[in-house]
Amino acid sequence: MGHHFGDRPMLIGGVFTAASSKEWITSVNPATEDEIGRAPAGTKEDVGRAVDAAAQAQPGWNAKSIWERAALLRKAAAGFRARAQEILVMEATDTGNTIAKLRADVEIAAGYLEYFAGLGTEMKGDTVPATSTGLHFTLREPYGVVARIVPFNHPFMFAGAHLAAPLMAGNTVVLKTPETSPLSGHLLGQVCAEVLPPGVVNIVSGYGMPVGDALVRHPNVRRIGFTGSVATGLAIQRAAAETSVKHVSLELGGKNPLLVFPDADVEKAVTAAVSGMNFSWAGQSCGSTSRLLVHESLYARAVELTRAKVAALKLGDPLDPSSEMGPVNSAGHYKRVMSFIDKGRNEGAKLVTGGGRPKSEAFKRGYWIEPTVFANVSPDMTVGREEIFGPVMAISKWKTTEEAIAMANATQYGLTAGIFTNDITVALNTAKRIESGVVAINGSVMHFVGLPFGGVKNSGLGGEEALEELLSYTQSKAIHVLM
Ligand code: NAD
Repeated sequence: MGHHFGDRPMLIGGVFTAASSKEWITSVNPATEDEIGRAPAGTKEDVGRAVDAAAQAQPGWNAKSIWERAALLRKAAAGFRARAQEILVMEATDTGNTIAKLRADVEIAAGYLEYFAGLGTEMKGDTVPATSTGLHFTLREPYGVVARIVPFNHPFMFAGAHLAAPLMAGNTVVLKTPETSPLSGHLLGQVCAEVLPPGVVNIVSGYGMPVGDALVRHPNVRRIGFTGSVATGLAIQRAAAETSVKHVSLELGGKNPLLVFPDADVEKAVTAAVSGMNFSWAGQSCGSTSRLLVHESLYARAVELTRAKVAALKLGDPLDPSSEMGPVNSAGHYKRVMSFIDKGRNEGAKLVTGGGRPKSEAFKRGYWIEPTVFANVSPDMTVGREEIFGPVMAISKWKTTEEAIAMANATQYGLTAGIFTNDITVALNTAKRIESGVVAINGSVMHFVGLPFGGVKNSGLGGEEALEELLSYTQSKAIHVLM
C-alpha cells in the first residue's frame, strides 16, 4: 500500500485540464481510507467544452477509412497493454478490486478495441428491390458525438472497452468516469492522447450531477451508452427526453438467479455460483450470481457447501496477488451494503456466514465487509429481491419447476441467469422461460466476445460486446435512386 498518484486531470480536445471550477475530488484507497490522488470535479462548462471538441473532431475522424480507424484502435489496444502494470496498480488501489483477477480487465478492454476494429466491413446496408427500375439502398452513418458513462466497479475496463464500438462506427466520444475510482481514466486519456487525433476521445470526471446530467442533456449528444444503476438509468431516460430525441442504451443492475435442479452435481453448481458472485470485486458485479435457488432435495448440502467455500475466501490487500477479496468501493457503498445485511437479519433470513466487518486488526480501517451468505431467503425479502452489489449471497429453496421459474422471475431485473441440470429438455425450457438477457447452462460465465451481453426488464436495453453494439452506434439512411 502507500501509493499516491497525485492530480489526474481530464482530457478535452487533446489537452489535459483541470475543472473550470478548479475543484477536485479526492480519491481514497478503500482498503485503508488513505488519500491517493485527485480528479477534477468537472462542471457543465467542462462538458460543453468536451462536446464541442468532440464535434469538431468528428468529421475528420469519420472521413478516415475503416482501415485507418481500425489501425488506430489497435494502436490504442497496444497502448493499454504497454501500460498494464501501471494501470493495474492504480486501479487496484483506487477500486479495492484484487489485482490477481484485475489483470484480465486491461486485456478485455484491449481485446474489445481489437474485436471492433475487425468489424468495420460489417457496418453494411441493404439493397431492396422497391421499384423495378430504381436503386434503393441503406447506408449506416455515425450519430456524431457519443456519450459513454461508466460505473465504479471496473472503471478502466468499461471506459476502454466502451470506446471501441462508437469510434469504429465513426463517432467521437465524451466519456465520463465514476466519481469514486476515477484515477485510471487519466491513464486511458494518456493512451488516447498519444494515439488518436485531438478531440476524438474526451474524458470528463466528476459527479453525476452536474457532469453526467449535463452530458446527457447536451443537445449535440444524440447517442448515450450508460452502464450503472437502475435509478440513474431512469434519470438518464428522463433527462434525455427533456432536451431532444436521443438513442439511449442502458446496462443496469441484476439480481441474478442460479437454479439448481435435483439431478445436478451440487458441488459443481455451488462452485459456479461462488465463482459467479465475483468476490474478487467484493460482489460488485452486475452479473453476480447473488441468488442461489436450490431444489429442496439438494438444499441442505448446497447451503453447507456455499458456507464452506465463502467462509474460506481470503480477504486482504488488493495489491497482494494471493488476496481473493478486497473491500467494497467507498464509504457510501459500505453503508449501503451493511444496511442490506441488517435488513436480511431483520426480515428473518438465516445468516450462514459473514454478516459484518471482519474482526482482525488488519481490517480496522477501510471499507471491509465479510463475505456473507443468507439462507432461507424468500422472494419477498429485500435480500432476495434487491441488487445489493456487494459480497452477499442469498439461498432459497424450491419444490417444483414452476415455483423455481416464478422465483427466478420475481424481481424487477433480468440480466443473467444460470441453470444446473443434465436434462436437456428442462434446461432449454427453463432457459426460454427465464426473463433474462443472458442464460448459462451448467456454468456461470456470461461474457463471450461476439455474443450480446445485456439485460431485459429493468436491467437494461441494448446488447453489447457483439456486432449489435457496433451497429447500435450507427443510424440508417435510405437512399432512393429513381430511374
Ligand atoms: P451509478 O448509476 O450510481 O453511477 C454510474 C455513473 O453514472 C457514474 O459515472 C455516475 O457519476 C453517473 N451518474 C450518476 N447520476 C447521473 C445522472 N443523473 N446523469 C448522468 N450520469 C449520472 O452506478 P454505480 O454505483 O457507479 O455502479 C453500480 C451499478 O452499475 C450497479 O447497479 C451495477 O449493477 C451496474 N452495472 C451494470 C453493468 C452491466 O453491464 N449491466 C456493469 C457494471 C455495473
